[in-house]
Amino acid sequence: MALFTNQEALDYHSQGRKGKLEVIPVKPCATQKHLSLAYTPGVAQACLAIKNDPSRVYDYTNKANLVAVVSNGTAVLGLGNIGPMAGKPVMEGKGVLFKVFADVDVYDINVNQPDPDKIIELCTMLEPTFGGINLEDIKAPECFYIEEKLIESLNIPVFHDDQHGTAIISGAALVNALELSNKKAEDIKVVVSGAGAAAIACAKFYQSLGVRNENIYMYDSRGLIYKGRDGMNPYKALFAQDKDYGTMEEVIKGADLFLGVSVKDILSQDMVKSMADQPIIFAMANPDPEITFDAARQARPDCIMGTGRSDYPNQINNVSGFPFIFRGALDVRASTINEEMKIAAAKALAKLAKEPIPQEVLDAYGMESMTYGPDYILPKPLDPRLILHVAPAVAQAAIDSGVARITLDMDAYVADLET
Ligand code: NAP
Ligand code: MG
Repeated sequence: MALFTNQEALDYHSQGRKGKLEVIPVKPCATQKHLSLAYTPGVAQACLAIKNDPSRVYDYTNKANLVAVVSNGTAVLGLGNIGPMAGKPVMEGKGVLFKVFADVDVYDINVNQPDPDKIIELCTMLEPTFGGINLEDIKAPECFYIEEKLIESLNIPVFHDDQHGTAIISGAALVNALELSNKKAEDIKVVVSGAGAAAIACAKFYQSLGVRNENIYMYDSRGLIYKGRDGMNPYKALFAQDKDYGTMEEVIKGADLFLGVSVKDILSQDMVKSMADQPIIFAMANPDPEITFDAARQARPDCIMGTGRSDYPNQINNVSGFPFIFRGALDVRASTINEEMKIAAAKALAKLAKEPIPQEVLDAYGMESMTYGPDYILPKPLDPRLILHVAPAVAQAAIDSGVARITLDMDAYVADLET
């Protein structure tokens, strides 16, 4: 049963104040004195202080808590290249999630610009205003190039959530799925369906978690990716096998992990049956996965299965990551979100799934009980403990890896997050 009707979705957006976000001043502006503090002449003091010491921008402006969600609308949800204006509801929605889950403020920047170099130029120009940039719904392979260049040149975090959010959350799920099935990342055989933004980032991140490059068999719409094949790009080439090992149906025999970030119904029950013991299946095509939860379970009752859907166990949902990852990064004024911080986020998520679940989380999902096991390998997106676990882990990793501009007393920080 759908939770809402199409009309309800439209009404949600249009009723009352249009759209989903507004800007709210956080200083009083009711008297003549306030007016001259908020704006001229008082504001000049803040301007001059920053001019003399640029680091004071974090004290005298909202930069420390402000993220730009930047999109050109070329790969919006599963809707494709619908353009920046049609994509704006998604970017506003992202702003809502940032605010509600982690009190991060967002300006959504939707630009009419397919040229990746121009997007790079735009984000470079935006750097003074923002504490971080969340690239969103920009199509592959341009998204890789844009992010790479910006990470190189900017001194604030730049994070393409469609890539790394997905990689981190599913990476956390993988850590626990491997533990439950008594397998080691180093030993597993992996079949990846898809070679786009999410697939490439997940496969790279799984390597950071120990998976071997030669054990990854990646498929795109033309079949297995191997050296010298037609229709390659430099990002796919990172996962090229030495030769054509055949169809997915052939190669998936004995595989431990199927990662689907492609299109629906790619994985058949026979293919699932041919996988190794306790196969791990992350079928994340939205809204319809590569195989349904029920079909996979029926084929292999011992499988550990995750999807992008909220109506089945183990939803791999980026909202469990990006608000808290940015929270932690912003709070230490990190210059980047590096691999150490991403791994720390995944491990914090994996660890939280093993802790007893508070009643309020069970209530939010209308469940009697949930315990760590094949059908609960990831914390639920509405778990209020997420911020307390993920943000400090990310902040600590930023400090330890030398990309934080300030350090924090972690106990005080956690207490602060709690209020
Ligand atoms: P993308 O960049 O467009 O990549 C899609 C990939 O799928 C492309 O590499 C494409 O091949 C490949 N593909 C298409 N048909 C295929 C087939 N028959 N067999 C194998 N591969 C095929 O999109 P994306 O952003 O990575 O997202 C992909 C899917 O994952 C979407 O459904 C998205 O909603 C979902 N997703 C879910 C989550 C989540 O649940 N948390 C997160 C991210 C993405 P070519 O390269 O040859 O075109
Ligand atoms: Mg997205």
